[in-house]
Amino acid sequence: MSNTLLPRGNTVSLPHGGLPEIFSTYLRTLIEETGGPLGPIGLQFVAQPRKEKKYFVNTEAGTGSMDPLNEDHHEVAPGLVYKYRGKIKKNGEIEYYGRALWTVTRFCASYCRFCTRGREVGYMGSSAINKNATLAQKAYLSDEDLDKVEAYLDAHPEINEIITSGGDPLTTPQPYFTKIIDRLSRRQAEGKLDIVRIGSRFPIHNPIGIKDWHYQQVGRLRNPYLMVHINHPAELTPIALNVLERFRRESGATEMSQTVLLKGVNDKVETLYSLFTKLAREGIRPYYVFQNDDVCWAKHFTVPLPRAIKIWQELRPRLSGVAATARFVIDIAQGYGKIPLPEGNAWSVDYDKGLQDFKGTHFDLSVVNSPM
Ligand code: SF4
Repeated sequence: MSNTLLPRGNTVSLPHGGLPEIFSTYLRTLIEETGGPLGPIGLQFVAQPRKEKKYFVNTEAGTGSMDPLNEDHHEVAPGLVYKYRGKIKKNGEIEYYGRALWTVTRFCASYCRFCTRGREVGYMGSSAINKNATLAQKAYLSDEDLDKVEAYLDAHPEINEIITSGGDPLTTPQPYFTKIIDRLSRRQAEGKLDIVRIGSRFPIHNPIGIKDWHYQQVGRLRNPYLMVHINHPAELTPIALNVLERFRRESGATEMSQTVLLKGVNDKVETLYSLFTKLAREGIRPYYVFQNDDVCWAKHFTVPLPRAIKIWQELRPRLSGVAATARFVIDIAQGYGKIPLPEGNAWSVDYDKGLQDFKGTHFDLSVVNSPM
């Protein structure tokens, strides 16, 4: 791989269906200042076609999945993925609440090479496996689609939480984002929705693209949660931190971070220590660290599980309590959900036989334990 950056806007055709190679001027500069394509930021965004194709499902070495979290299977209304189900008793009382993921766009400001939704984000009409998905043929949901989502939510009052995602909701045009916020804030005001999270990487990809209206719209939600995907301390530039500070101050957002453990990017105790310490200092709560999902185009980023747990166990005692709030989880394939990994000596894992959750369900760990 060349150590020089491709011209901005170059795209690389790869069989996963999405993930064009696009950088903002801001991100391009950050990549160049942090070691180029092989540095910790460049590796996340500059395509490595040979590696991305190697384990593709239809190759001889093929393994992994196009949709390991089984999201397409759980789409219940346009863009609405309902896996974490709530329950209503026979008498109509809610026994416990459910939460739904709402993908409102296929687009981001840049595309992470390890993205779980690489099968579809970035191009229209290119989804490698799900051409029938609502967002497969169009950039955004129509008013009719939004009505269908609301009808589904009305019929499922046990859903009290919506996690808006994509793609990246903050990259959508102002009129469209305003419509989404109109609907969500109205449901909150009507007592039909408690929690709204907005998942975004826009403040990291291109903080210069965040405008005053973003703060205003997010601030219309009651107690908004901004879930920011941050993988490396170098991503927390003064410009990005200023944007995140404005979301806290002007929008009243609670900010929580999500991090994917990635080989060559952040798989060192010192790197993660610096990241979580910086996040805590800035008032952003470390929330999740994810083991890299089992998508076939991103196997080269997977940190073997024994090593991942070792990093985690070395890291946690060094962190302040407010920096050690993240849970390290595996999002189990086939849509089962997230399982936290052991901390300290509280749990043990048999790396040969697999992992058992608190319900006694057994999981084969080979899929999350097999780097290239
Ligand atoms: S910002 Fe999120 S949705 Fe977009 S490419 Fe990166 S991981 Fe995927």
